[in-house]
Amino acid sequence: MDTHKKHLVALRDLPPQGKDFLVCDLAVWSEPIKEFHMDCRLEGIPEMELNILPSTEGWLLRGAVRASVVVPCSRCAKETPLAIAEAFEDYIQMPDEEGALPEDALSEGDDHLLFDHGAVLLDLAAVAWEQFALALPPTPLCDPGCKGLCPKCGQDLNAGPCGCARDEGDPRLAKLRGLKLKKS
Ligand SMILES: [Zn+2]
Ligand SMILES: [Zn+2]
Repeated sequence: MDTHKKHLVALRDLPPQGKDFLVCDLAVWSEPIKEFHMDCRLEGIPEMELNILPSTEGWLLRGAVRASVVVPCSRCAKETPLAIAEAFEDYIQMPDEEGALPEDALSEGDDHLLFDHGAVLLDLAAVAWEQFALALPPTPLCDPGCKGLCPKCGQDLNAGPCGCARDEGDPRLAKLRGLKLKKS
């Protein structure tokens, strides 16, 4: 992906006190969302702040990813706005000098690293995308008490009961449901 090549950082050229980076290029997120056919709409441009601090053995990454998205509720499929704000920390091990560092072509390794004529390049776009994907909740809810759709007729039960025969299930769970209803 061409977007990736725009956000490469030469790790060995970083100053010893580290350096701050900001990625706020829409394509970093919009392209993979399109590519993976994800049901996720971006509201505005996400951003990733990142500080990279060199150490003797590698590089310490500390950052945060922020985004506003609209995703379908995992129970009722209603469009649900989400504000994502996740801090993260990661560590990149210095590649082994003895190891096969490809000398000529730009080639991709682990940890979103690329190697080019001995330079170690970190792909910030790949880091930004990965952290965004990790921060997305696997089962987003429009409301913690969302009743979802009736498994029999498909009606949105938040709008009211549908008249299908209810399976009351475990009475202890029913009690919990009652508690949740009182809170909201
Ligand atoms: Zn819902
Ligand atoms: Zn029903």
